[in-house]
Amino acid sequence: MKKGPVIAIDGPGGVGKSTVSQRVAESLGFRYINTGAMYRAFALAAKASWVDFKDDLNLQDYCRGIEIDYSMETGRITIDGTDYTDSIRTDRAGELASKVSTKPSVRACLSAHQRVLGEEGRVVIEGRDIGTIIFPDADVKIFLDATHEVRAKRRHLELVNGGHEASAVSSTLEERDKRDSERKEAPLKMADDAVLVDTSELTLDEVVQKVLKIVNERLKVGDTGR
Ligand code: C5P
Repeated sequence: MKKGPVIAIDGPGGVGKSTVSQRVAESLGFRYINTGAMYRAFALAAKASWVDFKDDLNLQDYCRGIEIDYSMETGRITIDGTDYTDSIRTDRAGELASKVSTKPSVRACLSAHQRVLGEEGRVVIEGRDIGTIIFPDADVKIFLDATHEVRAKRRHLELVNGGHEASAVSSTLEERDKRDSERKEAPLKMADDAVLVDTSELTLDEVVQKVLKIVNERLKVGDTGR
């Protein structure tokens, strides 16, 4: 049971979900949960442990046996004590996450963690399936979108600014979007009751303001605790 408002923000890669969600959470005084970070960290940890990504049972056993620690205060993520916060930002981590997230056992395992965190309430939680599967009863659901060209540019900038390798961003992103949208388990899809925000022509500030306006209109007075 939710103990307070849950704001679900979904959308494809490179749309700016993390930055927008973080800014929205800050502005509301809510905590922020990045579910993509969990898939990324899980994928890196599983690879480091030689887990076979094709073997669902093996993935299930591995996921059940590890300690995943996501801090809603700092956003830091550790698995069995190893801190993955900085290493998850690469394109390789995104690619591995996209592959492993097609597996039902992995989704079931990580979804359980995400629900426990989100049920605390007063959270902004972002991903691909938050409004459809993780919190179908979220108080506000936003779907951020933008053209492929715009998203590829944003992802490229994000990687370069982080000092990461950024070749072939456009094709990698396209492939990943396709995999995320066409998978059987919890595909990337806008919830019927989500509000679509096309960010293609908007600045970051404009997107944040737009999302905050939608949130404030939908949350009942007093929900934000302010
Ligand atoms: O959002 P981010 O790019 O960090 O996510 C990495 C990958 O993790 C996505 O491409 C997607 O395959 C997977 N993911 C998911 N469900 C979520 C969040 C992320 O399947 N809720």
